[in-house]
Amino acid sequence: MALARIARANLRRSGGALGSYACEKDVFNVGGYTNICYIPSHVYFNSDGKFSYVPTVKEQNYVNFSMRGISGTPYHLSASPDTQRVIEESDSELENDQTRYAGLEATKPGEKPRVVVLGTGWAACRFLKELDTRIYDVVCISPRNHMVFTPLLASTCVGTLEFRSVAEPVSRIQDALAREPNSYFFLASCTGIDTDKHEVYCEAVKNGGLPRDPYQFKVAYDKLVIAAGAEPLTFGIKGVKENAFFLREVNHAQEIRKKLLLNLMVSENPGISEEEKKRLLHCVVVGGGPTGVEFSGELSDFIMRDVHQSYTHVKDYIHVTLIEANEILSSFDISLRNYATKHLTKSGVRLMRGVVKEVHPKKIVLSDGTEVPYGLLVWSTGVGPSKFVKTLNLPTSPCGRIGVDDWLRVPFVEDVFALGDCAGFLERTGKPVLPALAQVAEREGKFLVELFNEVGKQNGGKAFSAKDMQLGKPFVYNHLGSMASVGRYKALVDLRKSKDAKGLSLAGFVSWMIWRSAYLTRVVSWRNRFYVAVNWATTLVFGRDNSRIG
Ligand SMILES: Cc1cc2nc3c(=O)[nH]c(=O)nc-3n(C[C@H](O)[C@H](O)[C@H](O)COP(=O)(O)OP(=O)(O)OC[C@H]3O[C@@H](n4cnc5c(N)ncnc54)[C@H](O)[C@@H]3O)c2cc1C
Repeated sequence: MALARIARANLRRSGGALGSYACEKDVFNVGGYTNICYIPSHVYFNSDGKFSYVPTVKEQNYVNFSMRGISGTPYHLSASPDTQRVIEESDSELENDQTRYAGLEATKPGEKPRVVVLGTGWAACRFLKELDTRIYDVVCISPRNHMVFTPLLASTCVGTLEFRSVAEPVSRIQDALAREPNSYFFLASCTGIDTDKHEVYCEAVKNGGLPRDPYQFKVAYDKLVIAAGAEPLTFGIKGVKENAFFLREVNHAQEIRKKLLLNLMVSENPGISEEEKKRLLHCVVVGGGPTGVEFSGELSDFIMRDVHQSYTHVKDYIHVTLIEANEILSSFDISLRNYATKHLTKSGVRLMRGVVKEVHPKKIVLSDGTEVPYGLLVWSTGVGPSKFVKTLNLPTSPCGRIGVDDWLRVPFVEDVFALGDCAGFLERTGKPVLPALAQVAEREGKFLVELFNEVGKQNGGKAFSAKDMQLGKPFVYNHLGSMASVGRYKALVDLRKSKDAKGLSLAGFVSWMIWRSAYLTRVVSWRNRFYVAVNWATTLVFGRDNSRIG
């Protein structure tokens, strides 16, 4: 309540605005906008050059105030009638708001420290898997309750694998989430972090049956692990978000599969012109990285084997085009790139050099004016920082990810760590920003969980208690190599440590066996390993399932 009063006094003093600093408008729930103000404060360095905890920029977010009992009513920073209404709220209303923004309060002395993990991807799940829950309580917050085994996701789009084979429920990865009284999984997105108060603010996934919509709550942490991943890059190209499919989640793969099968079926309808058939059955993939190439390979495999058997009326109309601005698989060895180019072309994939200018519902326009009609468009041009990461106002790495030091700590803020695709080394570490790869995320997760378990054993788990602790060896990443399947029982294996290094590279059937064996052993659980093996065997014997369900 005291905080509420202080905040109200601030609102009055500033006429509803927090000082005269620039405010950014940011869309936020509660049916209106939230404004984020940046209030400069000072940065302190210890004499040994280490950071001490004082944020460079302090984010004062209305959501945070509302969490502290000010209001859950939509309002703006300016002295609007809404703001006035907030100021005039009675104490009893404020108390109601406190229950409205219920959450997990800070842990008390004697209780286990609480680790809050944002995300259920590669980094978060590797971390969760080995967290010592005798030392810590754990709260995982993510808009999806499972981890996606992304390297095999492309195979689910055409029915080589079933969707559940690549999804692992998070409660099976860390069973304390379902079992321990003070550990939880919350199906929600984090929308803000107050690093001073050690709290995260969340919005539950919409379900329509909750008492409030949006349903917001807060969770206090002793240690925070941000592993919220990245988002597909669209380079601001008009029409991409509206018309293209991305391939990052299981539901994306489901949508792609449905669309592909729908196009195959509707193109058989009587009265469909030749030109329309060609368009409907033209599958375009934009982006020649490993994901785009693997998806094109799976599609060509599907066409050559299954479409030719099950859709004989339209088999000659279906085509795959892979559009890339430079060269495909640019991070792979040149001999492997050449192999992939030849193999894809032989499998019927048209490789096209071009830069997409805009995307329309039925056609793509390239920068040279070429128009490419399509029936299915899959966009795979890499990833960049997500909207959530961009709003965090934490230090950043050169690529705009959350900046971390050699121990994956976020500097200037205490007890906050970031890893995986959302994090990158700060420039001052002298280390490059690591590629957005599962093997990076996974190894960062492993490093961090070992660090946490060690810190926990030395009673450093509680908030602000590990300040002067020796953290041991920093995180070092050694690249183990890259693999990509190109369809028709062929794959590429590049075991070079870096792009310019020398090393073994293989392409062909043996590589494909290596690719399959490697991923089969990496699938998270025995249950899913079994599913994957059975799906592969079933597809080999009976072909892919082409029922369009849903
Ligand atoms: C189709 C495909 C194939 C790939 N193949 C390979 C491969 O063969 N080899 C390889 O090394 N890499 C591969 N990758 C890359 C690899 O999957 C990523 O680098 C890896 O997933 C990154 O892990 P992460 O934990 O950082 O993020 P992710 O795995 O993306 O997980 C992010 C998590 O954060 C959650 N989240 C997002 N926003 C919020 C929020 N606001 N609050 C809370 N939670 C949030 C998400 O729901 C998700 O659970 C592939 C990627 C794709 C898409």
